[in-house]
Amino acid sequence: MCSGRVDLEFVLRAFSNGTDGVFIGGCRLNECNYITHGNYHALNMVLLCRKIMEHIGLNPERLRIEFMTSGEGILFAEVMSEFGNKVKELGPLGKGEGIDQNELKSKLAEITKLVPYIKLVKNEKLASRLVNPEEYDKLFTKDEIEKLFSEVISYYIDPEKCQACMICAKRCPVEAIISAKNQIHVIDQEKCIKCGTCFEVCPPKFCAVTKITGAPVPPPIPEEKRTIVRKGKPR
Ligand code: SF4
Ligand code: SF4
Repeated sequence: MCSGRVDLEFVLRAFSNGTDGVFIGGCRLNECNYITHGNYHALNMVLLCRKIMEHIGLNPERLRIEFMTSGEGILFAEVMSEFGNKVKELGPLGKGEGIDQNELKSKLAEITKLVPYIKLVKNEKLASRLVNPEEYDKLFTKDEIEKLFSEVISYYIDPEKCQACMICAKRCPVEAIISAKNQIHVIDQEKCIKCGTCFEVCPPKFCAVTKITGAPVPPPIPEEKRTIVRKGKPR
């Protein structure tokens, strides 16, 4: 019902499936039926996605958003015809840009995995309401996008500090923490959406969760070494 529901992940999925172009149609800006003004969310998502596309070497013109009413059939037909011609001109996704298909697939998969993180980090800008179309291109800068991917944050539980209080595991929104009583907790990096909750909730007296920026995460402690040694109790 609302263009604001079109998630960044949907667009990336379409491209991952080999779609050559994605068009999003929304109601006119400031004419939203809801107080949420979801069409601004859609616009900002598209502006971000277009910069991400540029970052991985895809032509951003493969993604277009337009705002119109249901009474503007002629305008819709014109825009679709123009967009269709543009996509034809650009050629098949990736081939038109000279990117290897496997490389493109792996780049798109990598970025799709980071969608929750990207939305969290760019939350403020994604909620903006730009009035002047001239501001569109400036909302997200090239440097900002480069930094977004070169300084990705990861979370790691220091096995020397974890006391298996289980608080982080209970609060993790995606069950990404391997948890058991008296066992050092471990973050499953494949499942982690980098929300930072574990970092926030780990009690200060333990301070076991570390934030790592733009660097690899140490390998997880082997399962057989995860039992916590308490004073006076053998492993
Ligand atoms: S950062 Fe968020 S998603 Fe990742 S392990 Fe911590 S709580 Fe779970
Ligand atoms: S909250 Fe901290 S001390 Fe408690 S289980 Fe998680 S990482 Fe370990």
